[in-house]
Amino acid sequence: MSQTTKYKRILLKLSGEALMGDDSYGINRATIDRIVQEVKSVVDLGVQVAIVIGGGNIFRGVAPAASGMDRATADYMGMLATVMNALALQDAMKRAGIISRVQSALTIAQVAEPYVRGKAIQYLEENKVVVFGAGTGNPFFTTDTAAALRGMEMGADIVIKATKVDGVYTDDPKKNPDAVRYQTVTFDEVIGRNLKVMDATAFALCRDQKMNICVLSIFKAGALKRMVLGEDEGTLVHC
Ligand code: UDP
Repeated sequence: MSQTTKYKRILLKLSGEALMGDDSYGINRATIDRIVQEVKSVVDLGVQVAIVIGGGNIFRGVAPAASGMDRATADYMGMLATVMNALALQDAMKRAGIISRVQSALTIAQVAEPYVRGKAIQYLEENKVVVFGAGTGNPFFTTDTAAALRGMEMGADIVIKATKVDGVYTDDPKKNPDAVRYQTVTFDEVIGRNLKVMDATAFALCRDQKMNICVLSIFKAGALKRMVLGEDEGTLVHC
């Protein structure tokens, strides 16, 4: 049965920490397989999927483990961590029958293709999932910013920030039981109410380019699919 989707091409931002599951470091096999099933559910609908993967489960330039290090060097290490996650994700997708390509913003020819915009778009048109590793390729940035950037370059309909929380709330839902999820919120309201969606650079980029963002939980089974079908899921940040 074919279903009509609200979005044809999406940019999914997965944090490195999402891959950890309940572990304190690295990649949890069952967790990555679970995430891949969520991705598969939208690939099967014919949605073109590009993914930007983080690296926080392995290394962050601003983490205590990097204290005292030259910041740019630490950030390059962080970017390399995202490439490891991209390869793990590709491997898990292959096992699930999803054809994917990894493109890296840093040239590591033996392990991943370099980022080439036109080629990435071609892969998406061929319904291959494209995983972008190494963030923007520049230190002092984050993979949130890479997601905003690649989302625009790919002409994605929306940037989806997949987190552990199923949307943006009026307050921290873990601390305040009265916290309410926003179904939709404007960019200006996010700023005015000091809500947390993406880091400031990524958020400003999306706002300037009128790229909508959806915040949802990748651990809520079926949430990604429901969102892509236009159902009430997560929080939609719009102009
Ligand atoms: N990073 C960077 N430039 C980028 C993207 C990432 O220098 O364009 C580095 C930075 O050190 C960052 C690390 O890679 O801390 C991992 O990325 P991020 O923290 O965004 O991962 P996530 O929090 O999504 O797991």
